[in-house]
Amino acid sequence: MIEDKVYAARSILVVGAHAFDAEVIAGPLAAVAAARGAAVTFLHLSMGEQGHPCLIPEHYCAQKEEEAGRAAARLGIASRNLGLRDAFLPADDETALKLCDVIRELRPEVVITHWHGSWHKDHRAAAHLTQTGIFFSALPTLKRGHAAHTPQLLLFGENWEDDEGFKPEHLVDVSDGFGAWAEAVREYELARGLSSFPYVDYYSALYRLRGCLRGTQYAQAFAAASHSWNAGSGLFAPPVRQGLGR
Ligand SMILES: [Zn+2]
Repeated sequence: MIEDKVYAARSILVVGAHAFDAEVIAGPLAAVAAARGAAVTFLHLSMGEQGHPCLIPEHYCAQKEEEAGRAAARLGIASRNLGLRDAFLPADDETALKLCDVIRELRPEVVITHWHGSWHKDHRAAAHLTQTGIFFSALPTLKRGHAAHTPQLLLFGENWEDDEGFKPEHLVDVSDGFGAWAEAVREYELARGLSSFPYVDYYSALYRLRGCLRGTQYAQAFAAASHSWNAGSGLFAPPVRQGLGR
């Protein structure tokens, strides 16, 4: 079961296009995993610094870095900023190699990122960069600062902007992480009325809805990578023994 695999992981990496994305696609899950002893890292590809109606990007970037740090502390996790430019995330190999380096350094068993079916170009880029970063990380012939590493599981989280073709294939119980998540996201001005979109209402209701279907108070939904990608690029499945009875 996916849930058992997620919570058995010692290291989990969540890649979000903008600070606040990782928090909504895997925040409650991260709080549960961290409380159970996992090392969880949120990697923000950009801070989403173009998203304030009044502040210039430099000032909003500094504000969001502080907000992300306080949110991570409430979840009991680490956060990093790759420092890419909001609205201009480059979906290229050079940037994917930066993700490769983080994956090789942190050696996560589980990686979570955006679903590719998004109206937002940065979210599509984040999904692509994460998959390509894993592909590069797994390549033993690619020499970088750290040794090759292959995660065991890649999941795509649920985000209101990434709803094109998203299927909630797996539901993970996050009941014990909801309280920490609710406090963590309110560290962001974005969750306190800056945006016209009611983030906290939407995600609180969504996690409860998924929980109703999971049979728990709260749950988060995830889609899995295709079998062919896992088998070919990800190499996640352990080698199959040839022959029976051995
Ligand atoms: Zn975003």
